[in-house]
Amino acid sequence: MPSKKKSVTVKLPSVDRVLGLTRTEELITAFGRTAVKKAVRGALAYARAAALAEIDTKTASDDNLLDAVERFLHAAAQTSPRRVFNLTGIVIHTNLGRSPLPEVAIEAMAEAARGALDLEYDLTSGRRGSRDDHLQQLICDLTGAEAATVVNNNAAAVLLVLNSLALRKEVAVSRGELIEIGGSFRIPDIMARAGCKLVEVGTTNRTHLNDYADAVSARTAMIMKVHTSNYVVEGFSASVAANDLAVLAHEKGLPLVIDLGSGSLVDLQPMGLPHEPTVRDTLASGAHLVTFSGDKLLGGPQAGIIAGCAELIAKINRNPMKRALRVDKLTIAALGAVLRLYADPDRLAERLPVLRHLTRNPKELTALARRLVPVLSKQLEGVAEVTIVDCMSQVGSGSLPVERLPSIALSIKPRARGGGGAELSAVFRGLPVPVIGRISKGALLLDLRCLDDENEILSQFYHVSLRNKPAK
Ligand SMILES: *Cc1c(COP(=O)(O)O)cnc(C)c1O
Repeated sequence: MPSKKKSVTVKLPSVDRVLGLTRTEELITAFGRTAVKKAVRGALAYARAAALAEIDTKTASDDNLLDAVERFLHAAAQTSPRRVFNLTGIVIHTNLGRSPLPEVAIEAMAEAARGALDLEYDLTSGRRGSRDDHLQQLICDLTGAEAATVVNNNAAAVLLVLNSLALRKEVAVSRGELIEIGGSFRIPDIMARAGCKLVEVGTTNRTHLNDYADAVSARTAMIMKVHTSNYVVEGFSASVAANDLAVLAHEKGLPLVIDLGSGSLVDLQPMGLPHEPTVRDTLASGAHLVTFSGDKLLGGPQAGIIAGCAELIAKINRNPMKRALRVDKLTIAALGAVLRLYADPDRLAERLPVLRHLTRNPKELTALARRLVPVLSKQLEGVAEVTIVDCMSQVGSGSLPVERLPSIALSIKPRARGGGGAELSAVFRGLPVPVIGRISKGALLLDLRCLDDENEILSQFYHVSLRNKPAK
C-alpha cells in the first residue's frame, strides 16, 4: 500500500517507448504485437506498484522491465493443461488425466483432427451415416453385446440410460450400492436429475433377492445394479449376484442395467492382476445393459460405453439427450484404435499403457531406481537422503479398490529437522515438467510404476538445484 505521508514519484517510461526498443521488436516477432503490448502494460503497472509500495525502489531500467515482460509472455504462452510425471503410485489417476493413450490412438486422433473424415458419412452409398458405426461392431465383438453406443463419459452413460428407460418411473437399487464417486457423482442425485424415482432396496450391508422382489411394483421401470468400485463392505454383508437378479428381472419383464464403472474387456487374472468383472461375463449373466468408462481399465480416451440389448440401445439413441451427450471425432478415433488393440489380447499388456503400468515387474523397477538414485543423490547432497524402498501402488479411479500392487519408489527424506516432505514435494512440483509424488512418513515417495521416460526424468532431476532446497 502506498504510504500517505511520503509522496513517492515514480519515473517510468511510456508504453510506446518500451515498444520501440530493439529488444522489444524481437519479442513482437516471437509473440505478436498484441500480446507484447499487454505484457508491457502489465510490467509497467507492476513496476509502478512495487515502487509505490517501496518493495522495489530501484529505478526500473529498460532491461529490468523487459525481463519482466519476457516472463509475462512466457507464462502466458505456457500451455494448459501441462504434462506432468505421475509418480503418485495411482495408475488411473482422475486428477492427472487417467489413462495415457497408446501411440496408435494418438496417431488416430491427430489424423482425425487434421482434416475432413467420414464421421457420419457412408462411403459406399454416399449417404449420411452414423458416428456410432465406427465403434459399435468393435464393442459388440469384444463383449458379445447385440448393440452399443458411446457417450461423453460413464456418468453420462448412466444418466442417459436412466432418462431413456425410466423417466417418471421407479428404479430399484440396493442401499449398499448408492455410491458417490468423486466429483459429486452420486447415484441418488443422478437418478433425480434423470427424472427417475429411486426405490432403495435392502439395507446398507445386506440386500437379498426377495428385497428386490418386494420393491418391484407396477411403477418400476428398471432394476439397476452398481458395481461398488471404490469401496468394499466387509463383515456381515450380502448382495445379490447379477445372474440371480437377471432371473427376477426377466420374470418381471424389467430391464436389468449394471453400471460396472471401470469394467474390463478382458480377464485380468492371467496377467497377475486381481479379478474384475468383464463386460462380456456381465452381459452373459443376463444383464440387459452394461455401462462402463473408456478411460479406466479399458485404457482409452474419456468416454462412456453402453452395451447390450439392441432394442434398448435403439430407444436410447432416440432420446434427444443422446445428441447432447455424444462423443466427438477425436474420441471416436482414439477409442476405435484402442479397441482394435484388444483383438490381440496376447500383446495387450505391452501395447496398452494402462495394462503395461499395472503389470510392471518390481524387479525392472528396482533396476530403474538404481540408475536414478546416483543422479538425484548428487543433486540433493547434504539436503536430503535418497533411497530405494518397497511400496504399494493402487489401480485408482475406483477400480479394484482394495487390491494393491507391490512396487518400488525413490524415497527422498530431508536431512534437516523441520524440513518435511511437503517442501520437497513443492520443489518437485515446480520442475519444468512437474514431478508429482506422494508423502509418506515425512519423506517424498516417487513410485516408479508409471515412469516411461527415463531420460526425461533424469533431465528433470538435473533441475533440482540446491537453490530449491527446503528451508533448514
Ligand atoms: C467411475 C465410475 C462412474 C463414472 O464414470 P466416468 O467415466 O468417470 O464418468 C460411474 N459409476 C461407477 C461405478 C464408476 O466407478
